[in-house]
Amino acid sequence: MPRPLSATIHLDSMKHNLARARACAPTARIWAVVKANAYGHGLERGLRGFAEADGMALIETDNAVRLRELGWTKPILLLEGIFDGSDIELLTEHNLNSTVHCIEQIKMLEYTRLSRPIDVHLKMNTGMNRLGFRPDEFGAAHARLRAIPGIGNITLMTHFANADELDNPRLSVREQVRRFQLGADGLAGERSLSNSGGVLQQALLSEALSNDWVRPGIMLYGGTPGETAAADYKLLPTMTLASEIIGMQQLQAGDTVGYGSRFEASGPMVVGVVACGYADGYPRHAPHGTPLLVDGVRTTLIGRVSMDMLTVDLTAVANARVGSKVVLWGDGLPIDAVATAAGTIGYELMCALAPRVRVREAALGQSA
Ligand SMILES: *Cc1c(COP(=O)(O)O)cnc(C)c1O
Repeated sequence: MPRPLSATIHLDSMKHNLARARACAPTARIWAVVKANAYGHGLERGLRGFAEADGMALIETDNAVRLRELGWTKPILLLEGIFDGSDIELLTEHNLNSTVHCIEQIKMLEYTRLSRPIDVHLKMNTGMNRLGFRPDEFGAAHARLRAIPGIGNITLMTHFANADELDNPRLSVREQVRRFQLGADGLAGERSLSNSGGVLQQALLSEALSNDWVRPGIMLYGGTPGETAAADYKLLPTMTLASEIIGMQQLQAGDTVGYGSRFEASGPMVVGVVACGYADGYPRHAPHGTPLLVDGVRTTLIGRVSMDMLTVDLTAVANARVGSKVVLWGDGLPIDAVATAAGTIGYELMCALAPRVRVREAALGQSA
């Protein structure tokens, strides 16, 4: 028997969440963001779950090529663009759309004779201060790029720092949109602004955010980009990490559990040992009180997470036994609830799913 730990990927929920993104931004085309191995779900599953997207966006050049090998013929966007002049050949050979965010990338394109036209996304830094040209440099960058023979469509893009909080006092979406409009004023070309946070705000900001292309990631995987619960946006979880109880211990007052003996029983209690640890991607820093489901009953993590196991309080789970089903996150337990308890975000938990975890699929049209 294999270890009872597995991650189930719900392809039908991926499809549902994509439809939610469409409903939020009905006039936009959708780049389904499948970077980081489709947020831990597997690139190939991303391709199947989001088959109805208008394009796939990612970071990794090798996976962009793999998408073509897997038969994806619609557009592909490299979100950080090329890393070296030699990558340009990949763009022309596999018809990849590349982000251009710095002068060095423009120079690489100027030095290379393009054997086929390529489309690019020219990125503006509207306050995120990671990648992109400042609004006051943007027009010049656009002109220089436009002058390169073989550059096809230039889409104008930016990225929001706080799309989940419309009125963040440090940097609001409205302010970033204002800067974008200023920097892009008079320039022809399609626009791409919104990540999941922006897509989910679309109803509130429809005018300012009426982009030609949107770039949702986390919402497609049933996670929230901010404070509002994913379920309130009618998103469905796409990854269920589940295991079983593989051992039980009866404790008396004063007994401790696990490495560091950090948990001490205040009275008689039952502890369950779950086959899942930090080497599987479960966060080691998850504290006492982090939620889990045992036989569908919500209970809590106790003690320190070890490499291959973690321990749970079974006091409230009447018929718990070795073999009881444990949900670490997903179906019935939002990944965001676990992430919040552990001081991180759902994104990190999904992406950190370890290679040793068996992955199964709930096929499209089949319930999980
Ligand atoms: C990752 C990424 C996205 C998707 O962000 P989410 O918050 O997951 O929706 C969109 N655009 C760019 C440029 C990204 O790097």
